[in-house]
Parts: sequence; structure tokens; C-alpha cells
Amino acid sequence: MAEGQIFGAMLQEFDGAARILSLEPGIWKILTHPKRQMIVSCPVQMDSGQIEVFTGYRVQYNIALGPAKGGIRYHPDVSLDEVTALAAWMTWKCAVAHIPFGGGKGGVACDPTRMSRRELEALTRRYIAEIIEAIGPEKDIPAPDVNTNEQIMAWVMDTYSMHVGHTVTAVVTGKPIELGGSVGRREATGRGVMIVTREAARHLQLDIRNATVAIQGFGNVGSVSAQLLAELGARIVAITDWKGGVYNPRGLDIPKLLEYAREHTTVEGFEGSESIDNEVLFKLKVDILIPAALENQITMDNANDIQARIVVEGANGPTTPEAHRLLHSRGVLVVPDILANSGGVTASYFEWVQDRYGYFWKEEEVIERIEMKMCKAFEAVLQTSLRHQVDLRTAAYVVAIDRVATVTRMRGMYA
Ligand code: NAD
Repeated sequence: MAEGQIFGAMLQEFDGAARILSLEPGIWKILTHPKRQMIVSCPVQMDSGQIEVFTGYRVQYNIALGPAKGGIRYHPDVSLDEVTALAAWMTWKCAVAHIPFGGGKGGVACDPTRMSRRELEALTRRYIAEIIEAIGPEKDIPAPDVNTNEQIMAWVMDTYSMHVGHTVTAVVTGKPIELGGSVGRREATGRGVMIVTREAARHLQLDIRNATVAIQGFGNVGSVSAQLLAELGARIVAITDWKGGVYNPRGLDIPKLLEYAREHTTVEGFEGSESIDNEVLFKLKVDILIPAALENQITMDNANDIQARIVVEGANGPTTPEAHRLLHSRGVLVVPDILANSGGVTASYFEWVQDRYGYFWKEEEVIERIEMKMCKAFEAVLQTSLRHQVDLRTAAYVVAIDRVATVTRMRGMYA
């Protein structure tokens, strides 16, 4: 995408909701500018002995509600535009989830698939050292994102702790459980998807126990959503992944499929099922469709073929704006990404709370609190959509922007 295009897409979504709120021009300006953007150069001695310099970014988009929160992405295409837009989306996601965080995001332009573990550790430590003044439990709390994981978060925590001279677990979330991570976090995004799916079905008076579901993606989000929805009694009839897909109109046996996918790295070939691809998946006559893999999967090419009554965006940005308008006009209820997959950041918030407490909850407590937060968030967005007669995506932005605008007015202008 051209420079500015991803942030431009965020602004489009923002503008629609800001108009409904009749947002005053001053607040409008503040909320459409990133608070702070950092670009850092990270020299790393590679295994070959040569020195490479990687460009890293960290953007704190808005911190009106609390410290910035958002992941760190390692990918060759990482750019300031992308990181800024993602930091803005984190601002709205945290506000919809009603957790006391602002929005941030970070990234390093690199190809982690071509780097050794030692090189990745050196890059992570140098990147964190370069932005160290700006992060901290009260300032900005990173987390995993594309191509970063628990191990990288452990290095983030250690680098920060070495700089300040004592162990600070709350500086980053998504850590291994042994290092202050939270039980229930790994499943949290899928759990949130299950909860909003159940609530959306209830709103349409669709009995989830007899509902049929198709899911794109069987990774962290897709597989947990499938498992938990199946536990509610829903019939998961189709799943696709990077290699192919499976379909069984009587319902797939999800625990067995999980075992199969672990062994074969794909769902393709699972016995007792028919082989399908994404094209077929999106056209299936099901009640609920959950894109939980990649961006831009529901487009003007396939939106008209979708037969589901509910689409739940487990992935970030799976529906293009035009396709979303078409689905809405056809009466399909789309639960937007900033609400549907906010279970992950909600559990991250709980990890930060437990780290600061120095006292860790049982899994049931984490689950109960995610349940409470997600139900409240869904209800707030649904009521807003009914009040303003708008789709759930616009309503989610209205809720989020209203919360950030309200505290911005209360805090006043520092000058
Ligand atoms: P993951 O890497 O664990 O899983 C991705 C899945 O998508 C895999 O099953 C993969 O096989 C499948 N996939 C890849 N290419 C595909 C294709 N062409 N067709 C169908 N399936 C394909 O990733 P994840 O953590 O489950 O994340 C999925 C989405 O959810 C992403 O958009 C991510 O940004 C978003 N998300 C994740 C979290 C989280 O906590 N993991 C939180 C918020 C949002």
C-alpha cells in the first residue's frame, strides 16, 4: 500500500463515527493526530560478523485513557504509516473494551524467517534499548503481534529490567506464565469471539445450540473459537487454513480436528470430511461466518455470495469497507474486529493488573472477568447501534471515540 493509505483507511472509519457524535473540531483534530511517533535505527551484529541496521518504530497514538498498549510486529513491510494506523486502531479497541489503556504499536522492518535466534534476541534488545525512555508499566506496554512471541516478550522484559536495575514484569504482556504471564491469555481472543458470537445470535433470536458455523483460519483465534462454540452446542461445519479446508454438514469433531491439525499442520485431509477452499467456505449456507485468518478476505468479489446472518470478525480487517456496506445493506449483522477480537487485549490488561499486584488469579477468575468485560462491550455497542440506527462497526467507533473524547475534554489542554 502507498504511504498514508492504511492511516487513511483508519481516518475514514473515524470520520463516520465522529460525525454522528458531532465531535467539535478541536477534539476531532487531537484524535486524528498521533501523540508521539518514534523512528529508531537498530544496529545488530549478524552471525556472519557483518553489521546490519534495522529501522524500528514505536507509535503512541493516544494516551488519554491510560498508558499506550499495543504489539510489536516484525515484518519486512513494517512502515511508519502502518504502525501509526495500527496504534490508532488499538486506541479504539482499548476504548471499546473499556480498559484503562491508550493505543500504541511498534514494529521493526526485518525478515525474522531469515534470522537466527541469536540475531532476533540482539535485535529485540537493541530495539527496546532505543525506545526504553518511552516505555514502562505506566507509559507504554508492548505485546506480541505478527512474528513476535512469548520468548521475544521475555527478552523485552529482561532488557527493560536490566536498564532500570530491577525486575519489572508489567512492562510487557504476552509473557511466558513463569515470567508473569496470565493463565487464560492464550485462549482469550477466541473466547471473546465465542462470547460476542453467542450474544449476536441471542440478539437475532438465533439458537446458538442449533446454529451452523464456518470459520476461516484454524490458528490461535480460529481454533479456540471453534472449540468453545462447539462446547456451546453450535455445529462447526467448515474450516479452512493455509493449505485447504474441510466440510461436514453434520458438524466437524473439533477435538479430533485439533489433534489432526497438530499432527499434520493443516486441517486438510481430515477423515469424514469433504475438501473445500476459501471460495466455497464464504458461499456456504451457514448461520454464522467467522473470518479468523487474514485481512481483506470479504471483498466486493464474494460479499454478495455470503449467506450467513452473522459475520464475526475474528481477524483484524477481514472485510473491505465496500463489502461491509454491502453486507449491512443485505441485513447481515457484522460484529466488527475492534469489538470481536478485543478479548486478547482485555486479557493483556488482566496480565498487567496481576503483574502490578504481584498476585495471580486462577483461570476461572480470568475467564469470568473476560466474560463480564466482553458482554458489557457488546451490549454498549449494540445499544449505540440501535440508538443511532447504524451498523455495529460505526457504533463501536462511536462508543470508543466518545470515551476518548470525554476524558480529553475533562483533562483539558495542557499548555
Ligand atoms: P495464527 O497464525 O495462529 O493463525 C492463522 C490461521 O490462518 C492459520 O490457521 C493459518 O493456516 C490460516 N491461514 C493462513 N492463510 C490462509 C488462507 N489463505 N486461507 C485460510 N486460512 C489461512 O494467527 P492468529 O493469532 O489466530 O490471528 C488470526 C487473525 O486474528 C489475525 O488477523 C490477527 O491479527 C487477529 N488477531 C489475533 C489476536 C490474538 O490474540 N492471536 C488478537 C487480535 C486479533
